[in-house]
Amino acid sequence: MDENLDMTNTVNRSRDENIGDFDVGLYLHIPFCAKRCHFCAFYLVMQEERRIERFLRALAIELASYAKQLDSARQRISTVYLGGGTPTALSAVQLSQILTTVRSKFSLTGNCEVTVEATPESLTSAYLDALYAAGVTRLSMGIQTFDQTERTCLGLSSTTEEAKLGIRLLKQSGFTNFNLDVIYGIPGQTILSWDHTLEQACECEPSHLSCYALSVEEGTRFEHAFRRGELKPVETETERQFQVYANEQLAAGGYEHYEISNWAKPGRACRHNQRYWKGQDFLGLGPSAQSYMAGCRFGNVSNLEQYCGRLENGQSAVTEQEFLSISQQEKERVVFGFRMLDGVPKDWVASNARDPDWAALFTAFLEEKYVVQVSDRFALTAKGRQFADALGSQLL
Ligand code: SF4
Repeated sequence: MDENLDMTNTVNRSRDENIGDFDVGLYLHIPFCAKRCHFCAFYLVMQEERRIERFLRALAIELASYAKQLDSARQRISTVYLGGGTPTALSAVQLSQILTTVRSKFSLTGNCEVTVEATPESLTSAYLDALYAAGVTRLSMGIQTFDQTERTCLGLSSTTEEAKLGIRLLKQSGFTNFNLDVIYGIPGQTILSWDHTLEQACECEPSHLSCYALSVEEGTRFEHAFRRGELKPVETETERQFQVYANEQLAAGGYEHYEISNWAKPGRACRHNQRYWKGQDFLGLGPSAQSYMAGCRFGNVSNLEQYCGRLENGQSAVTEQEFLSISQQEKERVVFGFRMLDGVPKDWVASNARDPDWAALFTAFLEEKYVVQVSDRFALTAKGRQFADALGSQLL
C-alpha cells in the first residue's frame, strides 16, 4: 500500500509530545440511502446492491490495512460507530460481516460501545435480533419530527406511523440504549408542534436525545428553496424558544444536558461522539470519512467510485491530511471541549494563555459572561452556548 498514511509515525510523535491517547474510536461511513432528504448534505449515493457489494470489498481492504498499523502501535478500539448515509441500507448479514471483520482484525476494549445509525422503516424484528447478536450495543435513529407535515417538508422516506413502529420494534428487541435525533427550526414548525415532538420522543423512553437546529447546507434542496424564497427561515427568537422548550422538557424527563445538542439519561452519554469533543483520536473509514490521530487530521476521498478504485489498486483512500502544531491542538481542544456543558480543565486554558492575544480574548469572554469558571474548570454559560460557533472561531 504505497500511498498509505504512515500512522506509526504520527502515533510515535504523539507519545513524544504527550498529546493524544492510546484508545481509538472507529467510525465507518456507509454511504447509501434510499433517497436524499431535503436538508441533507452528507456524502451518499443511492443504494444499489452492485454498489454495496463493491463498497464492502473495498472497506474490507481498508480495514485490514489500518488494523495492521493500529496493532503495531498497540492501539485498541474503544468505540465503533457505523454512520452514513444509512447503515441499515445494508442487509443484516452484510452489517454483521463488517462487525465480524472489525472484531477479528482489531483489538477491542472489553466494554467497547458499538453504535449503528438506523432509519425506522428499515427495521424488522429479525433485523434487530441479528444486530443484537452481532454485538451492537446502541442504536441511533433519525426521527427528526413526529409531525407528518414537517416530515414531508424535510423529505423523509418514512411516515410518522412508520417512525413509531420502528421505535416499538427496537424496544421489543431488547435495545435499551438508543438515541433519537429530532430537529427544530423546520419551516412551518410551531412551538406547539415542537413541544408535541419532544413529548412523544420522551414517551418512547430513549436513553439519549439529540436536538439539532435545522441548518441550511449548501447544495441541498432546502438551500435552493430558501434562495428562491419558497421557504422562510424560522425567526431567531422562535428558534431561541425551541431551545428553551427542549431544555425544560428534557430536564423534566430526567435527561442530563451534556453537550450543546445532546441529552442523556445518567451514564448513557455517547462515548464515541464525546471523543470528538474531547480531542481524542478517531479513525474514519469509508468514502468522505474524516480522522484525527495524534495531531494529524486526514480525510478520505468523497466519491464512492474513486474510493473503491483506489483501494482495489493498492492505494490509500486518503486524499487530504494536515498536521496540527501543538499550539493548534491546544486551541482546538478548548474550542471543541466547550461544546460539553462541563467545559474544560483550567490547565487547558492556561496552556493557551501563554499567547497574550488569546489570553486577552479569553478574559473578555469571561467579563462578558460567555464563559464561567466553576471550580477548576471553564465552561460556556447559557448565553455563551448560543454563540458557541462564533466564540470558537475567534479562539482558534
Ligand atoms: S436518511 Fe440520513 S443520511 Fe440519508 S438522506 Fe436522509 S438525513 Fe441524509
